[in-house]
Formats: sequence, C-alpha cells, structure tokens
Amino acid sequence: TPLSTTDHVTRRICVCVRKRPLNNKEITKKEIDVVSIPGNGALLVHEPKQKVDLTKYLDNQVFRFDYAFDETSTNDLVYKFTAKPLVQSIFDGAMATCFAYGQTGSGKTHTMGGDFAGRQQNSAKGIYALAAQDVFTYINHRRYANMDLSAYVSFFEIYNGKVYDLLNKKAKLRVLEDDRQQVQVVGLEEVYVSTAEEVIKMIQMGSACRTSGQTSANANSSRSHAILQIVLRRNERSSTLHGKFSLVDLAGNERGTDVSSNDRSTLVETAEINRSLLALKECIRSLGKNSDHIPFRMSTLTKVLRDSFIGEKSRTCMIAMVSPGMTSCEYTMNTLRYADSVY
Ligand code: ADP
Ligand code: MG
Repeated sequence: TPLSTTDHVTRRICVCVRKRPLNNKEITKKEIDVVSIPGNGALLVHEPKQKVDLTKYLDNQVFRFDYAFDETSTNDLVYKFTAKPLVQSIFDGAMATCFAYGQTGSGKTHTMGGDFAGRQQNSAKGIYALAAQDVFTYINHRRYANMDLSAYVSFFEIYNGKVYDLLNKKAKLRVLEDDRQQVQVVGLEEVYVSTAEEVIKMIQMGSACRTSGQTSANANSSRSHAILQIVLRRNERSSTLHGKFSLVDLAGNERGTDVSSNDRSTLVETAEINRSLLALKECIRSLGKNSDHIPFRMSTLTKVLRDSFIGEKSRTCMIAMVSPGMTSCEYTMNTLRYADSVY
C-alpha cells in the first residue's frame, strides 16, 4: 500500500475548529444552535432567532481557520485533516503535537479518546487510536523499514501543575530540567507496543485511571490535561529518540472566565489552568514566528512539551472544539478568539 503523498504539513501550525451537534438534553431544553459553518474553513456565531443569510456575514462576524468541521463530521474525517499528516512527520524525525482545546462538554475527549456509544467509550475510534494505527502502517512500510524503528507509548495527566502517570496507578512524577535544558518526567512509564490493539488497551486503561475515584465521571478530568505520547526509537542506535507525537486532551477552558467562585481549591485550579493555557498560546505563537525565545518554563504543560516547540521539524495542530448552543456562546467566543490568536 502506498503512503499518502499529499503533504499538508507545509506550515508548522494548523488550526481547526470542530462543532459538535446539539445533544438530546439540549434539544429537549429547546437550546438554539448559533454556530454555522458555511465552508472554506469559515465559522460564524450568529444572533439567535433570526434567519441568517450566511453570505452576508462572511465579511465581518466570521472566523476563518485551516479547516472548520461541522456537526456531521466524523472522527475519521477530522483525523485525516489534522493528526494524520503529523504521523508522517514523526517518521521524518519531527516532534509533533495535536491539541484538543475547548470548554468542558464541547467534544475534546470524544475527538481524542473516541466517541461514546451508550456509556462506553469507543476507544478504537478516537484520534489517539487512529494515529496509533497509522504509526504501525508506516513502521511496516518499506519506506521506513530500513530505519529499524520501535514504538513506545506513555500516557499521563497534569493536574494543578503536577504530573500523574496514567499507566502506573497515577504515580506522581517529578519534572526535571538538566543543564542542557532537556526536560524529563522522571520515572514515566514508556511501554513498548507493536500493534494498534495494544495501544487501544492502554488508552482504555489510562482513561479509566483518569476518572476513577471521582463521584461525577467528568468532574476532575475536565480540570486536567491528558497527554498520550507515541515515541519512535531507533533499535540499532541504543534506542535513540527519532520522533515523538504528543496528543493532548486539554483541561476545559471555561474556568478562565469563572471568577465568581470563592472556593480556594477551585481558585488555585483556575489559576493553574489559566497559566498553562496562556503559556501554551505563547509557545505556539513563538513556534509560528520561528522565535528563539520559547517561554516553555511558564507551566508544567509547556515544560513537558518543550521538545515540541523547538527544532526545525516541530509541527503543531490545534483542534478547537465548540458547543453549538446559545447558552455556551460566551465560552464559544473565548475558544474562537484563543484559536484565532495562534492561527
Ligand atoms: P469534553 O471532553 O470536551 O468535556 P466530551 O468529549 O466528553 O467533552 O463530550 C461531551 C458529550 O458530547 C459526550 O457525551 C460526547 O459523546 C458528546 N459529543 C461530543 N462531540 C460529539 C460529536 N462530534 N458528535 C456526537 N456527540 C459528541
Ligand atoms: Mg473530556
């Protein structure tokens, strides 16, 4: 089977937006859909309760990105235009990153971890698994076979600036930076994998670990960043790092505007999430400007992703998720402004 010859990865940063459909609960509540995707990467948030002439809005109220995926888009389609080109880049020695950004409930985990059929998550259908599948297709392909590469997987969570290993009972890990500015998560499990099925098992295991112990399934996970890393190493060269793909399910960004809470632990969480999302924005922007100064020390998130922001071969893709409803409008606008600022 020939590999795809289309090279989407001419730019270092790709920014996309994905709108999820209204869910049953929202339909019952007569929630109004205020997000339209007219095509060509455009998205517009419009006034409710009026027939909108989309063409009229194209010049002013509209946001434009590399791709805008509407509510009928599948994970397969989103994958094809976002993470898939990055998989190829890690075989060419790149450090690649794909971020799912957006408010809680907008579809980040659905996109990265897989859709929810009933109450169970269909882990084979998320970007994590789709990327893993392609990694093994490429590893076995004659174009890369002579490189003698092996794949390894890590899966961890960052909560309140601390790193927890999702493949090792949530062990709390330290992040160290040596005098050559190399950043290491000390003791992080890195598991050798040879099939996509093995990776899917680890995704399930890690995702279960992410939410276990909480009363409401999504409460705590929405305040943490989850990072799945697929690492390529060269066998005959003492396992030298060849390429790395970091797939990140970011913490919900809605707390950025929630200043009404008096709960101290919530305030600390909020501050930490704000800090890390701001740091991420700054780092992606420096990457886009080919700047020498990458402010990666601003947060744990950007520290552990340091490799991804330096080097000529670094590639980043951000998928900004939006909810369609009018009651989410303010969060949706925040998400779009953030995405626009790294575009
Ligand atoms: P987040 O991780 O951003 O908090 P989730 O991925 O958990 O949000 O999504 C919230 C709910 O919406 C889930 O029940 C999920 O299955 C559903 N959902 C999200 N995106 C889509 C989509 N594109 N199509 C159908 N359902 C979706
Ligand atoms: Mg989630």
